[in-house]
Amino acid sequence: MLWDVAIVGAGPAGLFAARELAPSGLKVVVLEKGQAPRERKSITCGVGGAGAFSDGKLNLTSRIGGEPEALGLGPAEAEALIQYVDETFTQYGAPPEYSGEDEEALARLKKVAAEAGVEFIAGRQRHIGTGKIREVIDNLYQDLLGQGIAFRLETLVKSIRREGDGYLLDLGAEVLRARCVIAAPGRAGAYWLREVTRALGIGPNFGPLDVGVRVEFPAEIYAPIERIMYDAKFRVRTPTYDDMVRTFCTNPRGFVVAEDHGEFVLVNGHAENDKKTQNTNFALLVRIELTDPVEDTTEYGRAIAKLATTIGGGKPILQRLKDLRQGRRSTLERIRRVPIEPTLKEFTPGDISMALPHRVVVDLVEALSMLDRVMPGVDSGSTLLYAPEIKFYDTRYRIGPGMETELPGFYVAGDASGHSRGIVFAAVTGILAARHILSRHA
Ligand SMILES: Cc1cc2nc3c(=O)[nH]c(=O)nc-3n(C[C@H](O)[C@H](O)[C@H](O)COP(=O)(O)OP(=O)(O)OC[C@H]3O[C@@H](n4cnc5c(N)ncnc54)[C@H](O)[C@@H]3O)c2cc1C
Repeated sequence: MLWDVAIVGAGPAGLFAARELAPSGLKVVVLEKGQAPRERKSITCGVGGAGAFSDGKLNLTSRIGGEPEALGLGPAEAEALIQYVDETFTQYGAPPEYSGEDEEALARLKKVAAEAGVEFIAGRQRHIGTGKIREVIDNLYQDLLGQGIAFRLETLVKSIRREGDGYLLDLGAEVLRARCVIAAPGRAGAYWLREVTRALGIGPNFGPLDVGVRVEFPAEIYAPIERIMYDAKFRVRTPTYDDMVRTFCTNPRGFVVAEDHGEFVLVNGHAENDKKTQNTNFALLVRIELTDPVEDTTEYGRAIAKLATTIGGGKPILQRLKDLRQGRRSTLERIRRVPIEPTLKEFTPGDISMALPHRVVVDLVEALSMLDRVMPGVDSGSTLLYAPEIKFYDTRYRIGPGMETELPGFYVAGDASGHSRGIVFAAVTGILAARHILSRHA
């Protein structure tokens, strides 16, 4: 059978692409190596993608999660698409409340941040919540099934080849043929996509890489900010290296989690609706850009991840900020002395300065001290740091209108494309790819 469109990956990018294509009558198949929303156990794989196990913070501003200009979108177009994604999530059951709408409170926080040399990126957010997001994703999935979208679950796409005007997708036991491909394998599949596209002759450019730690501290420290914006974003330029360091994915009363990537382990964080902790966590990430002749940020990031995993004996490293500052490792005994109970239970107490590049460590320590003026207490010696947290948005594809690569009919979407960093923009890129395909078939 010849499919009109094969979508690789059922994350937000793949699902929103499928939803756009559904009414068209085109034959669409979604290939997903994970399971259905209600069956999956994996954090990153399955219908809903990496977002299905998150607490579903939808960032509803074009300033967070992607660069509209790189997608060929003007400001009004970008805002309209973001609103459309938000309305779609609401249609499938996302709760109606927003945070980040109190203009006066936002302005006050902006002022405090500016005085500390910190940029505060204000924006409206919808918080779906962990329990709810699975239901929302399941509603979307059932709707797509009902509209005739074919899902092949627990199906790993091994490679993709060009044949004539279309593509052959190797599934191991069989080869599937499609006129168009939307490749949306997410951050976890970015390395795989890079190999596939190299073989197709459209390998990506290298974009920046984000390397850092997950910071965990008592929830009371973040509470005043949480009332203004649930997942507030801050950016600083560090004094020594003038590097950009940002906070990302704040989880009030949440959990730090480990992500097993096979060759290495990374940390992440999430919050749950009905299970709260005493701690808040956020990612603190240093932006790294490499220049000619060594531009391969993916390999650099993987090398850091593997080194940290080696030092951590296969588990994330946990260190008190005080120990990092004093140049000594943390031990279990030292960690037990702090009044914070680590929410991640499987860790190795250690020394982050043995795992991350010196420049990154200096940046992180300096950034925490600047953030302390906005979030007093975050720079305390008992603050817990988990490493490594690395965001592989580093491969960025050259795209034409509608996310099409140089190969006609081969589209990239979502985080693996290098053009999104979150649920909303991933969905936007999926919609753009689908609409481009529809415009060809109109
Ligand atoms: C713990 C956690 C919390 C997060 N919290 C938030 C949040 O609150 N707000 C937010 O905006 N973002 C959050 N994110 C990020 C967000 O989940 C991603 O930005 C988003 O899911 C990216 O969407 P995507 O469609 O590009 O890829 P993904 O959601 O990663 O989906 C890709 C899918 O492709 C499948 N796949 C990969 N390779 C193959 C292959 N070869 N064959 C078949 N299938 C394949 C994978 O199994 C996966 O299901 C979080 C991420 C994590 C891990």
